[in-house]
Amino acid sequence: MLSVAKETVETGSEVLHPGAGVRRLFPFFTEGPGGCYLDSAATTQKPALVLDTLRDVLVNHNANVHRGAYRLSAVATELYDEARRKIARYLGAPSERCVIFTRGATEAINLVAYGSELLFQSGDVILVTLLEHHSNIVPWQMLAKRRGLKVVFADITPDGELDMSDFKAKLSSMKPKMVACTQLANSLGTITPIEEVVRLAKGAGAMTLVDGAQGVTHLGVNVEELGCDFYVCSGHKMYGPTGIGVLYGRPECLELLQPFQGGGDMISYVSVEGSGWADVPQRFEAGTPAFPEAIALGAAVDFLSQFSRAEINSHEIELVRSAIDLLKGEQGVTLHGPGVRGGAQTSVCSFTLDCVHPHDFATIADTHNVQIRAGTHCAMPTLRKLGVPATVRMSFGVYSCEADFQAVVSAVRESRKMFS
Ligand code: PMP
Repeated sequence: MLSVAKETVETGSEVLHPGAGVRRLFPFFTEGPGGCYLDSAATTQKPALVLDTLRDVLVNHNANVHRGAYRLSAVATELYDEARRKIARYLGAPSERCVIFTRGATEAINLVAYGSELLFQSGDVILVTLLEHHSNIVPWQMLAKRRGLKVVFADITPDGELDMSDFKAKLSSMKPKMVACTQLANSLGTITPIEEVVRLAKGAGAMTLVDGAQGVTHLGVNVEELGCDFYVCSGHKMYGPTGIGVLYGRPECLELLQPFQGGGDMISYVSVEGSGWADVPQRFEAGTPAFPEAIALGAAVDFLSQFSRAEINSHEIELVRSAIDLLKGEQGVTLHGPGVRGGAQTSVCSFTLDCVHPHDFATIADTHNVQIRAGTHCAMPTLRKLGVPATVRMSFGVYSCEADFQAVVSAVRESRKMFS
């Protein structure tokens, strides 16, 4: 089995523990701007292992995959295939044939929404939730428009938890053909009871898609145990590169999908009369894939595998708890999300200020060397339901620590002084 340039890339077998100590492995902190980076839900910083792998592939193994008869191309192809195997293992997929490389979670959901189009009939229902990122809403709304379907939203509680009684009621009264639900909401950090959601949806005869864009990094997954039909994630939110993501599908579900895009690599033959499709997963990977990014995503998975999953989970839950405790005592701060009252929340802490707009706050925080997100976080229906136009969002990764949000408290005090 090949691995990327053993000579040049340290694959790292040391056991790692989350916290500020791992910043030494991230050039962003050691050579780049560093700072209190509190926007990991938008994109994570990249460890040297990922950056070195990307460079190494482009320098030493750069040849188009699945095409060349020469050795360089064969090696690039083997590295690409090995990345697919690594990711399959990381997700708990039964085979690498269940793993399709996409540009990201958004493209993966679009692939399913287009590919499953012919499985729906006019009047069919797609059930999503009010916790979804726009990328798990808009592709379904577009599909609904094309096919005369209805997109229905399961409600959330005022704390920002999925309202399971509403979900169950809609499941049994509307008999949705598809249930699409996030594992972890990027706007509030809500952990959904995804095992129960999938079990109930399957029991009601629906197909299931789980948005794991946040969940895969901050909670982890075993897709086979979860039993969902589809699971999606993005490389850049799991310490890997941008431009690469994953669609996992159960083999029998992938076989039901129409190809999303046509072109090279996804065909078995092309003639003037028509074309035939390649087997899965190639059927869904038209054109030259982002193979350096896919191989570097394999390195990101190697990096993540150096941590204990339980340690990542408790580190990020603990950070959320401490952030809530600290900000609770600050005048003018309103916290949003289930963790405020002891509910399940991780990796994200959202809040608003009485007299400062989130965007103004983020600008002031920047002067304290705090990179923090303000806005609707691509979750307008969630915020609308909570009655807030925008929030400030801190989000954490393996390198985050409590000192990061001490700086947030200073910025809260300064901004309130300026605006009140
Ligand atoms: N779902 C969730 C929960 C997300 O947080 C994001 C990214 N913010 C996405 C989907 C979309 O991911 P991407 O933009 O990488 O396709």
